[in-house]
Amino acid sequence: MLKLYKICKGNNQFTDVCRDTNEYGLAVFFSSDGLVKAREEESVYGRTVRTESCEILTCTEDCCGVCKLYSSDLVQKSSRIVKSPKSYTNWKYFTSQQLKDKYDQQRVEIKILKRKIGHLEERAVLKMEFTWTLI
Ligand SMILES: [Zn+2]
Repeated sequence: MLKLYKICKGNNQFTDVCRDTNEYGLAVFFSSDGLVKAREEESVYGRTVRTESCEILTCTEDCCGVCKLYSSDLVQKSSRIVKSPKSYTNWKYFTSQQLKDKYDQQRVEIKILKRKIGHLEERAVLKMEFTWTLI
């Protein structure tokens, strides 16, 4: 019996994630250990994201099992973009109370970061002193 195969269409609904990764070119996605996990490519379905281990042909669904599994990673990445305020913040539309709250919040963040820098500098000095005593 002849089986009908289709070409895996990958994940073509994550334009937001792709443009966040590479604004103008084709996006490449890496695993935590630096290996290429998936790539955005031009296909007959338009731009789509296929995994490096894409099965290319599929007979049951439009998307192969590997690419389908990777879609959950892309969903996660997409939700992180939406949560990120940097791309959607337009200060022009903030009320003065919202601006004050933001200012206070950033002052606290600066204080915390300065404290962190202080700790890191102390640790760096201690490490350098320790290294010098070993020499
Ligand atoms: Zn695939």
